[in-house]
Amino acid sequence: MFFKLENSTIAFGGLVANKNVTAEVEKGQIVGLIGPNGAGKSTMFKSISGFNKIDSGTIRFKDRDITKLGPVEVCRAGIACTFQKAQSFAGMTLEESVLVGAYLRRKRKKDALPFAHEMIRFVGLEGKEQVKIPRLNMFERKKAELAAALATEPEMLLLDELFAGLVPTEVEMMLELVKKVNGELGIALFIVEHVLRVIMSLCEKVYVLEYGEIIASGSPQVISSDERVIKAYLGE
Ligand code: ADP
Ligand code: MG
Repeated sequence: MFFKLENSTIAFGGLVANKNVTAEVEKGQIVGLIGPNGAGKSTMFKSISGFNKIDSGTIRFKDRDITKLGPVEVCRAGIACTFQKAQSFAGMTLEESVLVGAYLRRKRKKDALPFAHEMIRFVGLEGKEQVKIPRLNMFERKKAELAAALATEPEMLLLDELFAGLVPTEVEMMLELVKKVNGELGIALFIVEHVLRVIMSLCEKVYVLEYGEIIASGSPQVISSDERVIKAYLGE
């Protein structure tokens, strides 16, 4: 078993944002998570990455119980994430923000800095190292976030709406980049995405979340012909 979230339930006051959610990702696999706004997708990713404490359920990664770990420990265990709303790197340069990630496993600057530069090159942002994050355009910021996550050397990466706000040509370029992350680096991907084309062209398996519950899962082909899914997804 590579990754399994099992029977995860989390409530915010009276609102049950995730209810008995179970999802699995295999080593090197690309898995999608779709569902209407407010379905609980980001909540699920924040639970996996240690930012939310789940009320019940378990999270296992590589035969280890990571249910109670905090964000840094989860990252150290090998799960990194990019967020739907990231403001954390506001005052930093691209180089600094990617270095933060690289320092997780590389204690010395002489190890961390070249690796940070390698990840910056990997996402195609070479030459922008000294640019402050807010000065980057949306597409560059998304790639910067990806580079920072990759710098932690994850085995699984959670991408929460990485493609949102990109114009079609950028979506295509990001698709190629994400395929490269999976293909060349062998990193498993768990992807929340509204751009269905992205889900269809990338994912081996897709989970559909509605009102906090998984209502369907399977191949993109199976999912896209499921009546409940069509209703839930287009009912947005
Ligand atoms: P999605 O990412 O699928 O659009 P979210 O996981 O962001 O949905 O939100 C699911 C529900 O949980 C929403 O109703 C949202 O308002 C609520 N929610 C999420 N995080 C919190 C929080 N920290 N406190 C209170 N309510 C929250
Ligand atoms: Mg969300």
